[in-house]
Amino acid sequence: MRQPQPDGVLVRDIVIVGAGFAGLYMLHKSRGLGLDAVVFERGSGVGGTWYWNRYPGARCDAPSLDYCYSFSPELEQEWTWTERYAAQPEILAYLEHVADRFDLRSDIRFDTTVTAAEWLPDEERWRIRTDRGEEVTARYCVMATGCLSAPRLPDIDGIGDFRGEVLHTGLWPKEPVDFAGKRVGIIGTGSSGIQLTPIAAQTAAEVIVFQRTPVYTIPARNHPLSPDEVATVKASYRQRRELSRMSPSGLPVAVAERSALEVPDDERTAIYEQGWVDGVPILFHFNDLLVDRAANDTAAEFIRRKVREIVRDPDRASILSAHNYPIGTKRLTLDTDYYETFNRDNVSLVDLGRTPIVAVNKTGVQVQGKHYDLDMVVLATGFDAMTGALDRIDVIGEDGIRLRECWSAGPRTYLGIAVAGFPNLFLITGPGSPSVLTNMPLSIEQHVEWLAGLFTYLRENKLAAARATTAAQDKWVDMVNHAAALTLFPTAASWYMGANVPGKPRVFMPFVGGLGTYRQICDDVAADGYEGFEFESPPVHLAEDQASYHGPLAP
Ligand code: NAP
Repeated sequence: MRQPQPDGVLVRDIVIVGAGFAGLYMLHKSRGLGLDAVVFERGSGVGGTWYWNRYPGARCDAPSLDYCYSFSPELEQEWTWTERYAAQPEILAYLEHVADRFDLRSDIRFDTTVTAAEWLPDEERWRIRTDRGEEVTARYCVMATGCLSAPRLPDIDGIGDFRGEVLHTGLWPKEPVDFAGKRVGIIGTGSSGIQLTPIAAQTAAEVIVFQRTPVYTIPARNHPLSPDEVATVKASYRQRRELSRMSPSGLPVAVAERSALEVPDDERTAIYEQGWVDGVPILFHFNDLLVDRAANDTAAEFIRRKVREIVRDPDRASILSAHNYPIGTKRLTLDTDYYETFNRDNVSLVDLGRTPIVAVNKTGVQVQGKHYDLDMVVLATGFDAMTGALDRIDVIGEDGIRLRECWSAGPRTYLGIAVAGFPNLFLITGPGSPSVLTNMPLSIEQHVEWLAGLFTYLRENKLAAARATTAAQDKWVDMVNHAAALTLFPTAASWYMGANVPGKPRVFMPFVGGLGTYRQICDDVAADGYEGFEFESPPVHLAEDQASYHGPLAP
């Protein structure tokens, strides 16, 4: 039953911001709890990251059969992935299918950007405003805004002067982009750049890759999935998902038990070689690659040797393998023919370490000592990760405090899901949770399901609001920092650390403890009556009408 709507203000039980993997499932789950929900989505369709990142070559780097929802066995059985790593159009089609199958679209307002969210203490509700002038109040506000959804445009002088096309991989147009016969400059060599470069090189007259930091990448060995492979997984999905849920990565991968340093050199190299042939992410082979520099060096050096073997031009090979950070501490990528692409005659590589970009001008990119005439500049320059999307919303909590002020020295959360001072505001895969270090759909499900448990607890106990305590938050932040400090992650200038955004505090944002461990921690918190949260009763003037206050009971 919908609640009354005074003077054009919508009233809902829950507002969900974003209609990607997280927002869609949060909506479905909310409805199952009998909560009256509305989703605001800035895109014209569902899909989140898979709606925006339409650049040629975009595909997931977790196996498709695992990179999908597990909450519905029927959905698992009826959807058939066609490739080991699905391309963007297929993942988007899957999310559109999910939206239709669960009839989600009717509660999603597309083309609508949430601009502000303010806690109203007297009503114990959130007031959310949008760029379309809408105002809605809701008991819960769930930020399903994504970890990599605020594209970052680089601070390069003159970029607005360029007369050709300028595209960002994270804001790719819906219309096909034609590289044929064009001189294409690609700035950035992270996951997006390495996926796009080989495709652009197939038709462009010239591709010039501007590299600031070399990536470590291994062959994805993507391939069409055979009916047998699909059938085998479908027959064992429940066991596969159980293993994934409790694993560190959210994937059905057994945890490595050996140190890279305890095996003889030739045996270790053989393991890396086999992994290279099979397309196994190299970090899965041993248990200390992300904690021990000497162990890490064995994997890093293996990749550098591969670069030297594949790339014929020694100067290019040297630029591509001039890594100044441990492997895996920036996102390890999976590619198709990335290094091979530098053997093409129409591809050049510019080492921005030697010759930094001076400016973009009307006709191309000027680096120190040389100008590159271009028809198109592609910015594969990444995102203001994990906090960027939230930072763009004016979130105001208790006593008028702003989230961006609370996080001015780096994000602070309780479990990556709640923030002290912001009652009933919840983050799906927020900073301080395993999120980007794991298979995202399963991490998202874990958060949504945990929140569903919390909402049920609040209703059963006739409580209006849950507020993370500062003490619990401080303890959790210490835990996140302590866990990160035991690894090599903080040694790299990565987006995990906020280092790609000038002025952003350098704090390692995800929780490195792994999804299985984290799930156990969250379950224990719930079992202890949501330890670390304080609760509010409904305001007196609303408490009489408990039924409408708490929404209808779940069917
Ligand atoms: P990214 O990993 O942050 O890479 C951005 C690249 O742009 C880096 O090489 C960076 O160099 C460079 N760059 C940034 N500003 C620059 C400037 N002013 N001048 C020159 N170079 C500049 O971004 P991304 O490739 O979009 O990927 C972000 C994340 O999204 C990934 O790590 C991954 O988690 C996710 N993603 C996943 C997939 C997939 O799975 N399939 C695909 C795409 C993205 P520095 O390293 O020196 O900063």
